[in-house]
Amino acid sequence: MNAGKKVVVIGAGVGGLAAACRLAHQGFEVEVHEKSGQPGGRCGRLSASGFNWDTGPTLLLMPEVLRETFEAVGRKLEDYLELTPCDPNYRIHFRDGSQVTFSTDLLKMKAELEAIEPGSFGRYLAFLRMGERQYRTSLDRFVGRNFDSPLQMFTPANLKEVVAIRAHRKMYPEVARHFRDDRLRAALTFQTMYLGISPYQSPAVYGLLPYTELALGIWFPKGGMYAIPLALARLAQELGVRMHYRSTVTQVCAEHGKATGVELASGEVRPADAVLCNADLPWAYKNLLANTGATLPRAERLRYTSSAFMMYLGTRKRFEGLLHHNVILGGDYRGSFDDIFERFKVPDDPSFYVNAPAHTEPGLAPPGKDALYVLVPVPNRQGYLDWSVEGPKLRAKVFARLGELGFPDLEQSIEVERTFTPDDYQAVLNLERGSAFGLSHDFFQVGPFRPINQDPHVRNVFFVGASTQPGTGLPMVMLSARLVTERLCDWAQDPKRARARPPVALAVDA
Ligand SMILES: Cc1cc2nc3c(=O)[nH]c(=O)nc-3n(C[C@H](O)[C@H](O)[C@H](O)COP(=O)(O)OP(=O)(O)OC[C@H]3O[C@@H](n4cnc5c(N)ncnc54)[C@H](O)[C@@H]3O)c2cc1C
Repeated sequence: MNAGKKVVVIGAGVGGLAAACRLAHQGFEVEVHEKSGQPGGRCGRLSASGFNWDTGPTLLLMPEVLRETFEAVGRKLEDYLELTPCDPNYRIHFRDGSQVTFSTDLLKMKAELEAIEPGSFGRYLAFLRMGERQYRTSLDRFVGRNFDSPLQMFTPANLKEVVAIRAHRKMYPEVARHFRDDRLRAALTFQTMYLGISPYQSPAVYGLLPYTELALGIWFPKGGMYAIPLALARLAQELGVRMHYRSTVTQVCAEHGKATGVELASGEVRPADAVLCNADLPWAYKNLLANTGATLPRAERLRYTSSAFMMYLGTRKRFEGLLHHNVILGGDYRGSFDDIFERFKVPDDPSFYVNAPAHTEPGLAPPGKDALYVLVPVPNRQGYLDWSVEGPKLRAKVFARLGELGFPDLEQSIEVERTFTPDDYQAVLNLERGSAFGLSHDFFQVGPFRPINQDPHVRNVFFVGASTQPGTGLPMVMLSARLVTERLCDWAQDPKRARARPPVALAVDA
């Protein structure tokens, strides 16, 4: 049915790769153009002097979505990737010097939680039960399907579920109903930062995030997270997809309201029956689609996720006191989110995350050494910050805090160091406003309110990835590949059915 129809995919991020595989399996002729020299986009790889760092994602959650991506094209995940659970999940260091280690093991969790807040374990179990309901309901009703209009979401049955899973409430106050100790409230809400959003602004339904990691586990692929895009790129090639690296698309070409192909930086034009854009959606509307008639409704009112200040450190020794995943919380939990999301400034006492994957897979660093990655959540580029000034200040704060935590020699042990700032997210990865996670996930930017994966006017332009439906994070972008494949198959069967749909109201201020 789809044979002879050619789709050009712009970008080899995990979303673009997963979609390319599915489309090739559905019979489309597929070619991918990626501006960088490697697959993965944000899920990339940096290597220097024998150190290997995953540049972005470090937590693989919901591995069943990854499994389904392979099964959908008739392959077995195990033939491409070897996944192991991370146990314990991570250690959280609080500002008062105390710490807690989280795990999927309920007996260990009981001891950890009760030591902080006696009597909290029973409420933790209730919190997990709610998280499970939030997770299952979200997957079944809200993120696992295409939406054309808010009316499809607000059926009486769905409205009942929206209330039941607390999608209409905010995350932090909901979690605070379960736990009295501020440390546990922080430890069970900071996970919204996996989506680059504040727990004070995000819907309480994101209680599903701590649920997925604490009940279903955090997973790690052999070879590191970069093994995921490598596996997808291999699969794509096996399915006949033509991959073109260092091939930057400069614009989508269109005639009479229809995309006709893409133009490359070399000047070459690649004709296509449909264009699938994996480059960040708001950036693509502005920079690739400007002359096509494609429009992003209410673009100026969209809200964006935070950015990140990244340090990739190769050290002369292994820091045994670190776990694979380490969360270091700063002071003034609430104020730091307001700084990042409302005042667009770097918090005075920032929280950050340290990843030490060589503790699970020693091969990622030379023998006896560590390949560390430090992620400090910072504002996106909406409020301008000079990173040549902010970066060194932030770096000094990170090492001072690590010194207090028992790693005073870490800075002196550095053999190789690289940084990546919000400016780099914009310039290198083409992320609008340098938002590391794409468009925000406020209630009015999820489900049918999130930009749709098919342009309402230029009907053969499609989108896949973090800033379209259903959202950001590896599992969501892989789901987005499934959703857009369904769209493209519908379109290929009957392009004329493509009618201009009423623009969806986007980005109502929360
Ligand atoms: C620091 C960080 C930590 C994260 N941690 C996690 C985590 O632990 N777990 C998790 O699940 N998720 C995490 N995420 C989120 C996750 O990385 C993203 O949601 C996901 O990788 C986005 O994939 P994508 O396919 O939408 O886009 P991208 O990965 O952005 O891919 C888009 C691709 O398009 C290419 N491109 C752009 N413009 C052009 C052009 N003009 N021509 C050709 N190619 C172009 C880019 O080079 C890029 O390769 C993290 C993100 C960051 C930044």
